[in-house]
Amino acid sequence: MTKEELTLEVIDRLRDEYPDADCTLDYNEAWKLLISVRLAAQCTDARVNVVVQDLYEKYPDINAVAEAPVDKIEEIVRPCGLGKSKARDISACMKILRDEYGGRVPDDFNALLNLPGVGRKSANLIMGDVFGKPAIVTDTHCIRLVNRIGIVDGIKDPKKVEMELWKLVPPKEGSSFCHRLVYHGREVCTARTKPYCDRCCLKEICEKNGVKGE
Ligand code: SF4
Repeated sequence: MTKEELTLEVIDRLRDEYPDADCTLDYNEAWKLLISVRLAAQCTDARVNVVVQDLYEKYPDINAVAEAPVDKIEEIVRPCGLGKSKARDISACMKILRDEYGGRVPDDFNALLNLPGVGRKSANLIMGDVFGKPAIVTDTHCIRLVNRIGIVDGIKDPKKVEMELWKLVPPKEGSSFCHRLVYHGREVCTARTKPYCDRCCLKEICEKNGVKGE
């Protein structure tokens, strides 16, 4: 099987396995997803989903967050870790949305990338989930799984993995495919334990399970 064939087969199988896989960060407005992805660095999505409720209760819109003292934001987001830098980025980011984008999140990848605390992973997540544009989100699950499966070979750098996947994954599939990798990485192809290859929907095609591609 070539890498292209393997990738398409994995996409199909994961679609069957996790038809409803979606972003695991809760949000109902684009700016809230921007805040959540910043908080999610080195923190679980479940904890972020709880912490943001406190944040939005006190500061319910972009203007309110932009005007909030950074130390007050930090007090609330501290349970997510890295409180000082996350609060600083969130404050700066909301000020830019308010002052330069009329209170909207830009639907342009490079504009997103220029926002404080927004890296390629976050910018891709916003492009895919909020704007329905092609996106490849290379988080820790994605990187581990595509290496194990044999879609890429020994590439750990997130940007390099992203660039390889752009060559292999049909653009309209990218966002959902990456969400499904997260589900599969949490439930079956886990990081901390031995992966559960015996009950994996990819076991007949996965390189780590002994299948060698071309
Ligand atoms: S067969 Fe094993 S290593 Fe391969 S994707 Fe499935 S769980 Fe992961």
